[in-house]
Amino acid sequence: MNSDLDFSGVGMTSQRTRNRLIERLLEQGVTDTRILEVIKSTPRHVFVDEALAHRAYEDTALPIGFNQTISQPYIVARMTEVLLAEGPLENVLEVGTGSGYQAVVLAQLVSKVFTVERISGMLDRAASKFKLLGVRNISHRHADGGMGWPEQGPYDGIIVTASPMRIPEELIAQLNVGGRMVVPLGNGQGQELVLVTRTASEVTTEVLERVKFVPLVSGKA
Ligand code: SAH
Repeated sequence: MNSDLDFSGVGMTSQRTRNRLIERLLEQGVTDTRILEVIKSTPRHVFVDEALAHRAYEDTALPIGFNQTISQPYIVARMTEVLLAEGPLENVLEVGTGSGYQAVVLAQLVSKVFTVERISGMLDRAASKFKLLGVRNISHRHADGGMGWPEQGPYDGIIVTASPMRIPEELIAQLNVGGRMVVPLGNGQGQELVLVTRTASEVTTEVLERVKFVPLVSGKA
């Protein structure tokens, strides 16, 4: 866990815009104050193109190059809340590093984050942000995340931030007993955020809400 990070050196944009974002998240039903605090203090403007930095605290997805998007803050908050709902987690696997924002949010709430990205240029850029912000409990890997990262598992939590048609078996296999996975399932037309939980004897799924993610693509780029 890394809750003592101080991001004040990377330029605070107006506290008022950040407060407004937190209010919006509260209105939408995100109530975990630790998550709200982390979102409030994490500099999202660092993760988006400079030309869009002035929109970084709007509750909206934004382009991050390579045809990908940084998720809407509400979705980041919601997925994090679902993942942590049953208590603290030791290690979490993220599939789809993208900008690195979700990983940095998680890194302040769990002990270790392992994040996998298939586009190497995207991953390099995210890794430079981890360094810039002094976040040390994120490990990253250039690989097809549909295969997970078996050498570091099994995981207490898995968060998939690109959308597969069905839950990859490899990811279920890397989930600890008692572990939780949040994954957007479906195609470009319609996706549902699904919570997968694993007990000693079974794997259960629960549909949470409709979402829109870029597709999970196999192979590396
Ligand atoms: N979590 C990110 C947003 C992810 S956008 C953030 O906070 O910014 C989705 C990302 O998933 C993209 O960067 C895309 O390249 C990546 N992705 C898609 N398929 C993948 C796969 N099979 N393995 C790893 N990453 C993948």
